Amino acid sequence: MQSYDLIVIGSGPAGQRAAIQGSKSGKRVVVVERREVLGGNCINTGTIPSKTLREAVMHLSGYMYQSIYGMNYRVKEKISMSDLSFRVQHVIKTEADVTQAQLTRNNVDIMFGTASFTGPTTIKVTGTRGITEIEAPHVVIATGTRPADSAKVPLNGTTIINSDQVLQMPEIPKSLIVVGGGVIGVEYTCMFATLGVRVVLVEKRPRLLEFADSEMVEALSYHLRDHRVTMRLNEEVESVEENAAGGVVANLMSKKKIVGDALLYAVGRQGNVDEMNLACAGIEADNRGRILVDGDFHTRQPNIFAVGDVIGFPSLASVSMEQGRIAAARAFNIPAYSNPANYPYGIYTIPEISFIGKTEEQLTDEDVPYEVGVAYYREIARGQIRGDTTGRLKIIFHRETRLILGIHIIGEGASELLHIGQAVFILGGTVDYFVETVFNYPTLAECYKAAAFNGLNKLARLQ
Ligand SMILES: Cc1cc2nc3c(=O)[nH]c(=O)nc-3n(C[C@H](O)[C@H](O)[C@H](O)COP(=O)(O)OP(=O)(O)OC[C@H]3O[C@@H](n4cnc5c(N)ncnc54)[C@H](O)[C@@H]3O)c2cc1C
Repeated sequence: MQSYDLIVIGSGPAGQRAAIQGSKSGKRVVVVERREVLGGNCINTGTIPSKTLREAVMHLSGYMYQSIYGMNYRVKEKISMSDLSFRVQHVIKTEADVTQAQLTRNNVDIMFGTASFTGPTTIKVTGTRGITEIEAPHVVIATGTRPADSAKVPLNGTTIINSDQVLQMPEIPKSLIVVGGGVIGVEYTCMFATLGVRVVLVEKRPRLLEFADSEMVEALSYHLRDHRVTMRLNEEVESVEENAAGGVVANLMSKKKIVGDALLYAVGRQGNVDEMNLACAGIEADNRGRILVDGDFHTRQPNIFAVGDVIGFPSLASVSMEQGRIAAARAFNIPAYSNPANYPYGIYTIPEISFIGKTEEQLTDEDVPYEVGVAYYREIARGQIRGDTTGRLKIIFHRETRLILGIHIIGEGASELLHIGQAVFILGGTVDYFVETVFNYPTLAECYKAAAFNGLNKLARLQ
């Protein structure tokens, strides 16, 4: 039996950061990973492939420059799946190498195989070379999730796929049905629509991206329609079948039938807990495979922590990293703080949406007196230079205290731009900061100043 101070199960962002924090605290750490490569879903099937695919789509389709050179502007006339895949595979390989080097540099042992508990402090690792037993007083579970299956949707890996299988499609379909109006479904809808694919998006709720500000979602919906996306909201899929022509038919509960060359099923994720023998450690998961934890990521067994997607919301790589870091710090009583109530969101639709803080709907429900300042990219020199004349930035602030309550952006670079506002928001700043600050010119950051003036002018008119 090999002994460690900390065993981390899973090498995604949550596991990596837990391991690095453990080793930086001077502890002996091992990461167990059941895949043959490190990096988890984040690097291999989720965040990194999808964001690289988006970048390839944006570049090859010429999207960024079409408002300047015309709708027919293209970098490559006929874009193939292998064009897109080429760039994705390159980035995946590089990122996996970087992860391995980082863990090795920090003296973290790496063990490939599937981990399962034999007791609260003992784990069996089953790999291609047999079984290894390891033990540690502290364990971090960071096993992530996988796309949820549905008996209604018979995946075949090529024309009926889930989000892990997008790059397995032999060619870019002419038409695509996307089931699921959450982040993953909407991001892929945007990418394929930008490539010229006719997309039908089916969502059972009345709106897309329910947690985002409705003004931003409406702006996105306008773009989607402009790119010939048909949105079927309040609609649910009853069954999916292949047709004789090699296409796919989605039968909706409302008796509508939608035909496409392919279907992407992007509804829900299931926690990876089945192989873990959790009962042996005295832990259990719910029916979606999520492990319940307290605010410090302890499971019911105080020496076992769970972090990342396997504990559910918000299921973001960015947040998973923080959770991993905090859990390992708690295990070894190292002081560490994170602001769990105020994480930013980056949604890589086309155009991007990013936000932090409350939405207008939430503040209205809570009867908070607020005012809004909006700036449009088209009013800012950088917006014209970049050719993004549709973006906008909205600051929501308290009408009396002028404290920032929320920042919402749609447009190119939104997820980067947000971090300026995030700093002011988290540090308890007011809208006046943006008025009193000089921003580089020409930058999109100037939107903050324009939005602040817009909001404060509205306040002035109230007096
Ligand atoms: C299409 C898509 C796009 C996304 N885009 C973004 C984005 O833009 N921004 C963002 O912040 N987040 C994004 N996410 C979410 C992000 O990928 C996840 O939040 C993140 O990967 C979760 O990290 P994790 O460490 O919890 O788990 P994972 O990354 O899922 O890693 C878990 C690892 O544990 C391993 N494992 C499982 N069981 C065992 C076992 N028994 N023994 C050993 N190893 C095991 C798995 O093989 C896997 O490698 C996206 C997700 C998807 C699917």
